[in-house]
Amino acid sequence: MSFIPYSCQNITDDDIAAVNAVLRSEYLTQGPAVPAFEQAFAERHQTRHAVAVSNATAGLHIACLALGAGPGKRVWTSPNSFLASANCALYCGATVDFVDIDPRTRNLSVTELARKLERAKATNTLPAIVIPVDFAGLPCELRELRELADAYGFRILEDASHATGASYQHRPVGSAWADATVFSFHAVKIVTTAEGGMVTSNDDELARQLRRLRSHGMVREASELHAPPEGPWVYEQQALGFNYRMTDVQAALGLSQLGRLDALHAQRVALADRYDDLLDGLALIRPIRLADRESAWHLYAIEIDTARTQRTRAEVFQAMRAAQIGVSVHYIPIHTQPYYADLGFRRGDFPAAEAYYARALSLPLFPALTEGQQDSVAAALKQALQV
Ligand SMILES: *Cc1c(COP(=O)(O)O)cnc(C)c1O
Repeated sequence: MSFIPYSCQNITDDDIAAVNAVLRSEYLTQGPAVPAFEQAFAERHQTRHAVAVSNATAGLHIACLALGAGPGKRVWTSPNSFLASANCALYCGATVDFVDIDPRTRNLSVTELARKLERAKATNTLPAIVIPVDFAGLPCELRELRELADAYGFRILEDASHATGASYQHRPVGSAWADATVFSFHAVKIVTTAEGGMVTSNDDELARQLRRLRSHGMVREASELHAPPEGPWVYEQQALGFNYRMTDVQAALGLSQLGRLDALHAQRVALADRYDDLLDGLALIRPIRLADRESAWHLYAIEIDTARTQRTRAEVFQAMRAAQIGVSVHYIPIHTQPYYADLGFRRGDFPAAEAYYARALSLPLFPALTEGQQDSVAAALKQALQV
């Protein structure tokens, strides 16, 4: 049997034609494709602004800056995420702390957040920004997060890298609740531009800052210049920005992919539903379903139910890989990384995230996964779990 990867990009002839058209055009970067992609993304996500960036890590970085992260400021995020969700705050000189997860959703726990905020208020150590992460594509409790943000005065920077196409209370993730939402278009994600990202926001001033920061802190539009321009060549650097721009080649691919988002999402939903059925009764915990939100199904992540099997996650992982099935593990809790240990975090600091990690396994899930392949995954898993 041939190897089944855990994720695989979905590229069509139309995608290739769209990229080729840009390669044959006048502009490879900063042409018409980036604004076209931004506008289509904003419309699809029911938001005023969408700012394209070179990758989601860059988007998290400039969104942190635009939301006020800096020396002396605190940023809190989920330990069950990719490194970038926390690193972005350190880039700005802010300090990072974590809020443990809700074991049911595997997302940052709003109950735990409320408790931690109450303690922080008493010691005058409230965070400036909280970065909830929609793990596996399942939206966080965005309404409750908004209420806490309004009560305690922090900004919400949602890391929706997994959640393109997800919705919460019948609205797309990225449309409301958060001050800014970041999406990733890395090749393993739901929609891809090879590398790429998008920041959405309804805040005009924030969007203006994001556009400036992604391009060296520079502006050219006459209305934004501090002084009357000497001529049409004038540009002003108004902040210390970066080169975090997306290219037209990437944007053309993104725009083409975005046109298929509903279809790509439907394929993932169907496969996730089918996994739920195929894995019913096995010694594992399937992802939770909640009536008020629809996951983007970036990952189908299970937990080995150690109460019902003596097999460890490591054993199941090895057995699956031996059966040519590309399982993966998301995530090693960020605070247990050596770099974060040097900042003072310890094993045991966030026990729910650590317990989840110890039993977690992500199964292959991508639009082109066939039912036959899925049957093989389920059969191999059943065998691997047998004592
Ligand atoms: C992929 C990912 C990122 C980083 O995205 P890039 O586009 O690769 O920079 C950030 N956060 C989470 C949760 C991710 O999964």
